[in-house]
Amino acid sequence: MGTNVDAANTEGTGSALIEKNPKIVFVLGGPGSGKGTQCANIVEHFGYTHLSAGDLLRAEVQTGSENGTMIEKMMSEGVIVPSEVTIKLLERAIMENENDKFLIDGFPRNDENRSSFESLTGIEPEFVLFFDCSEDEMEKRLLTRNQGRKDDNIDTIRKRFKVFTESSLNVINYYNSKGKVKKIDASKPAEEVFEAVKAVFAPLS
Ligand code: UDP
Ligand code: MG
Repeated sequence: MGTNVDAANTEGTGSALIEKNPKIVFVLGGPGSGKGTQCANIVEHFGYTHLSAGDLLRAEVQTGSENGTMIEKMMSEGVIVPSEVTIKLLERAIMENENDKFLIDGFPRNDENRSSFESLTGIEPEFVLFFDCSEDEMEKRLLTRNQGRKDDNIDTIRKRFKVFTESSLNVINYYNSKGKVKKIDASKPAEEVFEAVKAVFAPLS
């Protein structure tokens, strides 16, 4: 922490973020592994603020901003939006909120996301919560959840799985090598998964 102050200062909000010094937990796992569902439970029981990178990007598309068209296209293909776009949205959301404990769900998705976040914000996560789930189970959930998401179709789902195994797992491996990953068996029903999640957060609060 604090090793990248210069890079952060040139970014603008970066230095303000260092000053705020929020506690960050990255919540990672494949599409349909239950990140959003479990984050809602954690918010309710442990007082964190939930920031879904995907939701922030979808909201940015809705504002009709200049990046909106590019973001929408990339999301509909299941590919990873440029780091600086996502990081700006995350920084803004953290600074706008009075809380100092955040769950960042669905980010970082590749090594470049991770190193950019660390160098632009100067922040390292407290730990990474990893929802481990089989592709068969995730596919079933995505195809039956009906959230009206354009990317929940079988072609895009397959692409998202590929991006997850080829890029996002590297991030989990990186933090695992630093002893920062808390892995949860996410194939079970949501209530059972939350019991395991509680066992991670309860000792911290
Ligand atoms: N996305 C991205 N960067 C992020 C988070 C999301 O580029 O940090 C894009 C990416 O195209 C992804 C889509 O948003 O496939 C949906 O992400 P979300 O986390 O909402 O869904 P998930 O695939 O985890 O179900
Ligand atoms: Mg989600």
